[in-house]
Amino acid sequence: MAKIIAWLIVIFIVLLALRMINMRKARGRGAGKSAPAAAEPMVRCVRCTVYLPRAEAIPVEGGYACAEGQCAKR
Ligand SMILES: [Zn+2]
Repeated sequence: MAKIIAWLIVIFIVLLALRMINMRKARGRGAGKSAPAAAEPMVRCVRCTVYLPRAEAIPVEGGYACAEGQCAKR
């Protein structure tokens, strides 16, 4: 009887370890997918109302604007 209980504990630990490994892999994949979107937030230009990545925008009074001379003038 003690042997059966010992085997059950071993199987339970193995399953738990496999589940933890799978969760870690899934989390790593999820972070890799969402990282680029989170790294580049979009901002709206206060001059021409066009949305652009914040890295390409320049901070101006009242928000962000396109880099000099790149505004979509109509
Ligand atoms: Zn603009």
